Amino acid sequence: MELSYILNELGEDREQYFNAVSPPIIQTSNFTFKTVEEFRDALANEYDAILYSRGNNPTVDILRKKLAALDGAEDALVFGSGMGAITVPVLALLKQGDHVVSVAKPYSWTIKMFDRMLPKFGITTTYIDGTQTANFEQAIQPNTRLIYLESPNSFTYELQDLEAVAALAKSKGIYTMIDNSYCGPLNQPAYTMGIDLVAQTATKFIGGHSDVVAGVVTGSRAMIKKIFDAEFLNIGGNISPFNAWLLIRGLRTLELRMKRVCESTKKVVAYMEQHPKVEKIIFPFHPSFPQYDLAKKQMKDAGGLFSVVLKVKTLKEVETFCNSLQHFFMAVSWGGHESLVVPSAVGIKPEEFNPETESHRLVRIYVGLEDPDYLIKDLEQALDKIE
Ligand SMILES: *Cc1c(COP(=O)(O)O)cnc(C)c1O
Repeated sequence: MELSYILNELGEDREQYFNAVSPPIIQTSNFTFKTVEEFRDALANEYDAILYSRGNNPTVDILRKKLAALDGAEDALVFGSGMGAITVPVLALLKQGDHVVSVAKPYSWTIKMFDRMLPKFGITTTYIDGTQTANFEQAIQPNTRLIYLESPNSFTYELQDLEAVAALAKSKGIYTMIDNSYCGPLNQPAYTMGIDLVAQTATKFIGGHSDVVAGVVTGSRAMIKKIFDAEFLNIGGNISPFNAWLLIRGLRTLELRMKRVCESTKKVVAYMEQHPKVEKIIFPFHPSFPQYDLAKKQMKDAGGLFSVVLKVKTLKEVETFCNSLQHFFMAVSWGGHESLVVPSAVGIKPEEFNPETESHRLVRIYVGLEDPDYLIKDLEQALDKIE
């Protein structure tokens, strides 16, 4: 299916709503039936029915069709957050006593799900260095039911070989799931590479305007129906019709925004790598990246996140750089129109800062939609303020 068709037409039956170009926001909780028979049929199979907006809603349905098609998958479920799109499917796949093999250092709330929530159900997790596929094989136990991936992660960008891990899991009858947020739907077709469930936050690239929190998981119709029929309806983490509409609007410009972000990021990386105050660049599409060849093989492009390790001796120098930036905002998240920085030192107490520890001098940078030269000037003046 062509990308232009997905973003502009798929799922949109305009004759149903006055041929409006922009779809209506069907802001309703419930839907009426004319006969008892129709009502009964809908209750018996809510997955295929329009009954109640905790399950299906026509505005959300347009979004689901587009997001499934972007991944080359059969169906999608949209949630009120990216964490909903990760936690609900994981709960749906696992039962008491199961075991998970997870890549080390996934998203912070994913770690908390594995370490705090799942042990309540006797589910254990083994974290492994996912850069070597053999590590997955070694960690598999008789009760392993899920291999959980995040490639790249969103701070230090380690990759997993998706096709190799998917093949390994299939040969052992184990499910695979990936947090595909870094690449988004356009830069890494994880479902077509054999991963069963592809989750991502829609807060980042899909929304693109820093005004919605949402998430999506895509997969086969059978797996999505299984999640919908139980944990999705039970936990009730659905997205509102209005937020779904904002995401449909975000999708109109997804291709355009991704191109801009990917191109600008490479320009900003090229500036930063030659600066004397920058010791190291961490970016999957940089030739110094340890898994550069794999990145080039399985990713179409590298998105807008990269990290720098500053050549500094004190926390004050890291802070001076970040506090001096005028056009990069200091905030969590990424994928919006605005450029951002997160110094990893926000996660430690000031007295814990150790200049010998590379990660303490790391600053994550997200390049948004501004003119790259405007951003480079800002980085230059902030780097000049160090000392
Ligand atoms: C932001 C993010 C999430 C969580 O998404 P929310 O929409 O904030 O719940 C998950 N994984 C990664 C890699 C993220 O960056």
